[in-house]
Amino acid sequence: MKSTILHLSKMLQSGEITSVQLTEQYISAIEKENPAINAYVNYTFDQARANAIEADKLIKEGRATALTGIPFTLKDNIATDGMLTTCCSKILQGFKPYYDATVWSKLKAQGAVLLGKTNMDEFAMGSTSETSVYGAPLNPIDKTRVTGGSSGGVAAAVCANLAAYGLGSDTGGSIRQPASFCGIVGFKPSYGAVSRYGLIAYGSSLDQIGPMTRSVTDAAIIFDAIKGEDKKDGTSVATPSGETKLIGDVKGLKIGVVEELTDGVNPEILQAVNGVIEAYQKAGAQVVKLSVPALKLALPVYYIIACAEASSNLGRYDGIRYGYRASNYSGLDDMVTKTRSEGFGKEVKKRIMLGTYVLSSGYFDAYYKKACVLRGEVEKQIKECFEKCDFIFAPTVPQTAFPLGYSGGNATETYLSDVCTVPVNIAGLPAISIPCGKDKNGLPIGLQIIGRKYDDERVLNAAYFAEKYGVCEDIQFDGGVKL
Ligand code: GLN
Repeated sequence: MKSTILHLSKMLQSGEITSVQLTEQYISAIEKENPAINAYVNYTFDQARANAIEADKLIKEGRATALTGIPFTLKDNIATDGMLTTCCSKILQGFKPYYDATVWSKLKAQGAVLLGKTNMDEFAMGSTSETSVYGAPLNPIDKTRVTGGSSGGVAAAVCANLAAYGLGSDTGGSIRQPASFCGIVGFKPSYGAVSRYGLIAYGSSLDQIGPMTRSVTDAAIIFDAIKGEDKKDGTSVATPSGETKLIGDVKGLKIGVVEELTDGVNPEILQAVNGVIEAYQKAGAQVVKLSVPALKLALPVYYIIACAEASSNLGRYDGIRYGYRASNYSGLDDMVTKTRSEGFGKEVKKRIMLGTYVLSSGYFDAYYKKACVLRGEVEKQIKECFEKCDFIFAPTVPQTAFPLGYSGGNATETYLSDVCTVPVNIAGLPAISIPCGKDKNGLPIGLQIIGRKYDDERVLNAAYFAEKYGVCEDIQFDGGVKL
């Protein structure tokens, strides 16, 4: 049985199990099985036990919601008051924020149970989670493979049934890509639909928090719980309040298939994606073939803008305000230099330098400004594309999970593998990755459904069709908590 939120919540509300019992099951599974996959980097079991007691009270009083009492995990870049939040970086070693991220406050208020913080690429920069200071998480489906990244720990924990769900962040694919590599569902909401308050910034105009779950229904439950305007995040927007209604009717829908998102994709992946599209067509959807030439520019535009914003955002780690400080130095400048040299990993330094370069006087117009202009062009062409279709269906990633260590010698190829995910962030759109089959090695393949800005509910609905009618095969993992 799939330990989905929906299923566990029925068990909790009927009294078949209490949240305290359920939480203890997850804790023992994590203690036993996490060392083999390195999904969690910090356990918060005391917090979980306290949350579970509160949740059982809410259930008893008849005040429970679907996620009351359900154990979950947060990516290590989401602030939790008094609990380690390190972005899996040495520079935030020992850092405990003094406030909660809005998403965590919202879940806590509904009685969610926090099991721990999960592994990720340092400062969310990467596609494999291998740049984590704690070492890489391993893909539970095949432990010689990466989980994807940067929210790789959440993906591994959810896949291995060591959390019922998790929250990740997505700047250029970091929810959808690891979801695809680990055979789970990953939803990146429209930019602004979920508050970023308390999310440690990477690229602020691209970052978005979203759910990573075992089903589309669960993704909708969590999205509803965390969405909405927040005074603490000026870029957040009011989304339609109330429950996302999942009907799964696809009759008359126009599915866009975009040439630039399918070129060069591994044939096995294309076959799986096309198989799903055919099932939608049989149910009355139409396919429209489209071309969005500006997507050829999406990768360089993304990497210039993301690195520029990162170089500014990461300026605050100076050895004074947060976490790590070098121990041997002479004077302030030397302290800051040594702290940053010792505290940041190689990939993060590379991006800070690139970002500083594209923002520096003399190069600003040639790189950063040009990237911003081209970002507008990508947005415009995608908007035009959505005049001809309701959704874009595409692979989430052109490959399945890389072998561990592969990206070290193939950095360029790894960056290129973000090709299908980054356009979504550039244009602030909602997109979901759902498992849609396996390759010849048994590795999960992800289908991506992209919608118009603020069409989050419709994207979830389009994906729900596949779940409701069993269009896609479930990826099952033998282990963890299975109820
Ligand atoms: N792989 C992309 C990058 O390294 C996306 C990361 C993310 O979404 N956080 O920038």
